Amino acid sequence: MSSPSEPSGNDSPVVIDGSRGEGGGQILRTALSLSLLTGRGFRMTKIRANRDKPGLRPQHLKAVEAAAQLGGEVVGAEVGSRELVFRPRPYAARDMKLDIGTAGSAALVLQTLHLPLAMRAESAVRVVINGGTFNPKAPAFPFLDETWRAHMSRLGLSVSLAMPAAGFYPRGGGRLDAWIEPGRPAAKAIPDRGRMRRIRGVAGVCNLRDDIAARIRDRALMQLDDSGLNSDIEIDVVRWPGPGQGAAIAIWAEHQDAVPATFVGLGERGKPAEAVADEAVEELLDFEAVEPAAMDPHSADQVLLPLALADGPSSYSVNIVTEHLRTNAATIRQFLDREITIEESSDRGVPARVTIA
Ligand code: ATP
Repeated sequence: MSSPSEPSGNDSPVVIDGSRGEGGGQILRTALSLSLLTGRGFRMTKIRANRDKPGLRPQHLKAVEAAAQLGGEVVGAEVGSRELVFRPRPYAARDMKLDIGTAGSAALVLQTLHLPLAMRAESAVRVVINGGTFNPKAPAFPFLDETWRAHMSRLGLSVSLAMPAAGFYPRGGGRLDAWIEPGRPAAKAIPDRGRMRRIRGVAGVCNLRDDIAARIRDRALMQLDDSGLNSDIEIDVVRWPGPGQGAAIAIWAEHQDAVPATFVGLGERGKPAEAVADEAVEELLDFEAVEPAAMDPHSADQVLLPLALADGPSSYSVNIVTEHLRTNAATIRQFLDREITIEESSDRGVPARVTIA
């Protein structure tokens, strides 16, 4: 395997079909991170071809611009662009300040930069990103802080996070601060989660009435009590500062041998508070139903890249295999000579196993 810290010596660009598999922005973000780390350029066609508004959206464009700002040249960096060429150049990790300009996910831009910064940094670097911090189909801040950060820390990559302002669709205007310590990911076997310790959560609002957060919390508590999980459960009500309006709940399940798994329900206009709670509780119960699974489906696609960059074999279990996981594995294989296998069981109650040989 070529070391990700060294230019690979292979000058031909990787050619990536952006419509493959999940066909979303994740293919692009993984390619950007790996291009910076391996020194190998890429050409991507059919960007986000499987989405309603195909091509680069502001959040993806910001990830591209940030990667280029750090160390690269890019052709095709415009909103709506369906084709892009990225040529990396040697770079040094440094502090970065970015503004997505819309409610697009700040977390996804941070994840694009995280490994290229952490693996090259000589001292801690600070990244500040303005944008959305609670987005559907992306890591909301509580997931990032409770789950993603804990995974990274377990792999030897220390990150501190803060959310001085929450950003909800459509207003955005949130702010995510990250302090990234230098580090290299370590290989890891994470077979089981172990026994459940407790369930924690926060139900919060931003510029909405407090009783909305209380209703979300009460519904989640009732559903969790009825589920027979029989665990110690505590959900706080919080008020998030921020310029727009929004409501959300994050519930995390803590198990003895795993990092907390966070499940989020997001409010939107016309959606009852109860439905917000149910969304998070259902995902948590789906996770709990697959006994020893060490990871939730979102963590499973997000830890794959650091583990593929670690020396040595890794493995973990997950309750559901998503198209994101399969697609991320395919993108990683295009840059790194690693054997990644995803073994699914035909029995719904048995976790899938991901192995990086
Ligand atoms: P698009 O799908 O419109 O291209 P995108 O660029 O936002 O959008 P995807 O390719 O869908 O992104 O990738 C979304 C990422 O967000 C994945 O890594 C996925 O695991 C993560 N994600 C999605 N939903 C959640 C969630 N509820 N909690 C944590 N992470 C999530």
